[in-house]
This record gives sequence, C-alpha cells and structure tokens, in this order.
Amino acid sequence: MVPQLEDLGDVRGKTVLVRADFNVPMSGPDDGRIIVDDFRIRAALPTINWLSDRGAKVICASHLGRPKGATNSKYSMAPIRRRLAELAPGVELMENLRFNAGEESNDPKFVNEIISGIDLYVNDAFGAAHRSHASIVGPPRTLPSAAGRLLKREVEVLGELRNNPKRPLVAVLGGAKISDKIGVIEALSKVVDSFVIGGGMCFTFLAAKSLPIGDSLCEQDQIAFCRKLLESKVELHLPEDIVGLDRDGNFATFGVRLPDGAKGLDIGPGSAAAFADIIMGGRSVFWNGPMGMFEDERFAAGTRTVAQAMSETKAFTVVGGGDSAAALAQFGYEKDVDHVSTGGGASLEFLELGDLPGLSALRGAPNVN
Ligand code: ADP
Ligand code: MG
Repeated sequence: MVPQLEDLGDVRGKTVLVRADFNVPMSGPDDGRIIVDDFRIRAALPTINWLSDRGAKVICASHLGRPKGATNSKYSMAPIRRRLAELAPGVELMENLRFNAGEESNDPKFVNEIISGIDLYVNDAFGAAHRSHASIVGPPRTLPSAAGRLLKREVEVLGELRNNPKRPLVAVLGGAKISDKIGVIEALSKVVDSFVIGGGMCFTFLAAKSLPIGDSLCEQDQIAFCRKLLESKVELHLPEDIVGLDRDGNFATFGVRLPDGAKGLDIGPGSAAAFADIIMGGRSVFWNGPMGMFEDERFAAGTRTVAQAMSETKAFTVVGGGDSAAALAQFGYEKDVDHVSTGGGASLEFLELGDLPGLSALRGAPNVN
C-alpha cells in the first residue's frame, strides 16, 4: 500500500516537503510571465491545507517547463510563488527543480540539497510520478513519506479502472499517434470489453483493413500491430464516415474509403453518433485522445460529440491526456465527468503497468513497514 498523509504521524512542528505539479500554462514575455490557468496550484490545496491545519510548515517544490538543467528567468517560479502566497499564506516554494541538472539525472547530491532541513516528504505530483527524477524517488529513501490527496485519488480511480472496472468497460482512443500508445493499448486490450477508435490513429487501423486512406496520417510500422488487434477477440469499433479535406483542400465528408489526395481530419457525424451510443451504453468509460484535429473548428465536431456523451452517460467516466482534457474544458464538460487525470504520460503508464516509480518509492519509505 502507498502511505497516506495519515501515515506520517504527528506533523505538528515538522517541516514537510510537498512535491507538487505546478507546471501550469504560462504566457507573456520571457521576463514577465503570467499564469494562464492556476488550476494545478488550486488542486494542491487540499494536501497543503491538511498539513498546514495540523501545524506543519510546508515547503513546496515543482518543475516548470523544460529549462534543461540551467537557470532561465523564463521558467522562474516567481509568478507561481506569488499566486501560492495568495492561496496558501505562509507556504514556501523552492526554485524550479529543473534548473539543476541533478533533478532529471536523479543525482543523490541534489536529493540531499532538496531534503536539507526537511522532516517529512509528500508526493502530490501525479503528472511527474512516472519519472525517476530526484524529487520523486529521492526523498522517500530516507524521509517518512506519503502520497498527497491528488496522487491518492489518481491511484484509486485509475487502479479501479485497471483492476476492478464496472462492465462493460469501453476505451475511447484517439489522438495523433498509435506508436505513443502501444503499451497502453496492449494493456487495455486485456481488460476492456470494447475499443472505440478515432483520431489520427484510426487511419492506420483502416489501412490495416486494406482500405484506401488517401493522405491521412498513417504509421506504416504499426500496421502489423493494428492487424493483430483487429484479428484478436477484443471488440473494436472504427469510424464508418470521415470528415476532412479533399485533394483541392476543400472541406469534405467521405465514407471509409478516402480518395487519392484526401486527408481525414475528424470522424464523421454518423460515426460520432455511433461512438456516443457506445459511450452511453458503457458502465465505465476511459477516454484518451481527441477524435480529430479539434483545434480547427471545422474538425472539432467528432471530439465535441464524444465529450458530450462522456458528460451525459451514467457510466463512471475517466479522461486522460493533456489534449483530451483541454478539449473537454474547451467544450465546457470538464465538471461533468467523474475524473480528469492530471497526468497525461503518467496516467497511460499507470494503466499499462499498474505502478509508477513515484509510487514504489513511497512504498519503500522508512515509515512503511
Ligand atoms: P492527448 O494529449 O489527449 O493524449 P494526443 O496528444 O495523443 O492526445 O493527440 C492530440 C492531437 O492529435 C491533437 O493535436 C489533434 O489535432 C491530433 N489529431 C487528432 N486527430 C487527428 C487527425 N485525424 N489528423 C491529424 N491530427 C489529429
Ligand atoms: Mg497530447
């Protein structure tokens, strides 16, 4: 079992390092960055407040962007520190962990630096828990440690989906590339009752069925994988109509056979309705990957219909993946699903392997017997 906050014992008077995921979207000039959305900062408050309310001194730490081991004002934590001070007065925030190359290389010297003066460690950074970085796996080697509330909820929800789902369990998959998601597709194929496949990845499946796909996205080296899945016992639904651009670049609707030069960029309205029906009929639904190039309004309809079905179904609904979560929010259905996973890569890796480096590190902490 992963230790919880309650397993830290009495926290009064203790100094607690909270590894959070404050990798928030930022905009503005390099020397005056502003926070676009403070969701991730607010999401850490239940853990921070739990500790503060019990008399602990809380010091947070996070990475922001990819400064690649060097100090860079563009990735300074200063704007986040100011916002955190408003939301949780008295709570401190260290400088960007990735300003030190030792974070990503998991250097023991850097671990010692970040835990100096610290009594207890809490990991609440689900989005980084799949990385064996210093701040994720280092502190639990010596400090009594626990999972924060966000991390705990992720593990409960994704663990339930993986190990004990209400059936039928439907996995709705999309997004650009199959190669990114082979591991999770393979793991899911052992637990799901059916797959629903749209997005750029559906064209490699259509190609594996020897259908002409024009100039749509296709990963030649994944055709064999798709064929194997198509021939397996798992139920797999592919689009039966496609929306995209014809060879002259004009918006067009096609069947599953795309003419030469055409490009599929969204599932068609018939497929969207069929996919929505399957979602409505599930008792658990996991969705990862947009159904089309939803950033372009012309190709957003399929993703919108799936997002709406996710909001309306009585099934237990989980959405993973940065772009899928962004699409859900863009269409206003964020609040209407049971769980939006905060970690893209981490949620897929957890579904695939059932564990993450950050979790096994916590299980090895000295306060766990
Ligand atoms: P997530 O972040 O939710 O895991 P991905 O990163 O796998 O999702 O995929 C999202 C991207 O896939 C989006 O930028 C979207 O434009 C793109 N995409 C979806 N369908 C298509 C398509 N048919 N052709 C090209 N790109 C697509
Ligand atoms: Mg993405």
